[in-house]
Amino acid sequence: MFEQELSELKQAGLFRATATVVPDAGARVLVDGHSAILCCSNDYLGLAGHPALAESARDALHRYGVGAGGSRLVSGTSPLHKELERQIAVLKGTQDAVLFNSGYAANTGAIPALVREGDAVFSDSLNHASIIDGCRLSRAQVQIYRHGDPEHLSGLLRGSRTSGRRLIITDGVFSMDGDIAPLREIVEVAERHGAMLMVDDAHATGVLGTRGAGTAEHFGVEGRVPVQMGTLGKALGSFGAYVAGDRGLTDLLRNRSRSFLYSTALPPAVCAASIAALGVLEKEPWRRERLRENIRSLTRGLREADIGVADRETPIVPLIVGDAGKAVSASRGLLDRGVFATAIRPPTVPEGTARIRLTMTAVHTAEDISAVISALADLRRGGIL
Ligand SMILES: *Cc1c(COP(=O)(O)O)cnc(C)c1O
Repeated sequence: MFEQELSELKQAGLFRATATVVPDAGARVLVDGHSAILCCSNDYLGLAGHPALAESARDALHRYGVGAGGSRLVSGTSPLHKELERQIAVLKGTQDAVLFNSGYAANTGAIPALVREGDAVFSDSLNHASIIDGCRLSRAQVQIYRHGDPEHLSGLLRGSRTSGRRLIITDGVFSMDGDIAPLREIVEVAERHGAMLMVDDAHATGVLGTRGAGTAEHFGVEGRVPVQMGTLGKALGSFGAYVAGDRGLTDLLRNRSRSFLYSTALPPAVCAASIAALGVLEKEPWRRERLRENIRSLTRGLREADIGVADRETPIVPLIVGDAGKAVSASRGLLDRGVFATAIRPPTVPEGTARIRLTMTAVHTAEDISAVISALADLRRGGIL
């Protein structure tokens, strides 16, 4: 079935298939059986393999069983769901937080609860696919502002004729570019125009800010971002997502978000792992420090090898290749040299900007980082990158 469509994808270098990945020692994994340094995981602090998470999950599995058995409003709310929501609210400095089953479910569930037909959404041009889908589901009018451009955003708001609600949405850290949204300026634009502001902290939670609370903490604008979404499956090493804000917001989401209402709750053991992750986040600040050092030494080493990258404070380091087929060859070349970093191609990124998206974690050693840089330099010499 679908031979024609699939062969078109293959010809365009856009065909994708899943590789099977098994943890090995340290930052190494077995990719379809071949050992490689993992350079494309979002487990930025190395918490997915942390014993504290596994032990908490195991204890909860014995106490609560595997599945939640129902949606949150029917029979799926355990004390662990409540406790996790309470602890997320403490981290974020908000009145409350509501859990979702994934970041994808949070965005596609929350956005249509906040805006509807007759309202308007103002969305950054590089926002994540789950935000785009959430906007489409809402039936609100969508206006796209230029990436990271508060002035363009302000102009669109000024020209907007809607009499309904107006919602600005941005990634905190952009997932495929690793740059940080200019949140202080966006907060000011939102306040000046009386628009609601939502930030997606999928890649910022646990990474940015002195306590790892995310983009608002990074910029010192806590309390001025009314809708803060984030995920538990990236730097926190667990699974699931949240939206944090005041009680009115969380009550509305519990009543109106279809992905909250009509889907089985997160397994309690997953909530237990997330609670343990928040504990590790607080008790082991060295992980964020190590991550920052690793990001610095990778970008410095790449520049010394004449591979241009911008300075950054996030673990996402994109090497733009351009052509999709070339990105696939580069990824294959890296795997041959013992480095696992997948090619990111359209429609995940705009046409003509296919890339190798490197990510750093707190688990990478200095030797790992040198090996990655050597592999990339070798590809560069061979004209593959
Ligand atoms: C990963 C990601 C999501 C989706 O989160 P999941 O928990 O993986 O579903 C949402 N938004 C952004 C910006 C992301 O990078």
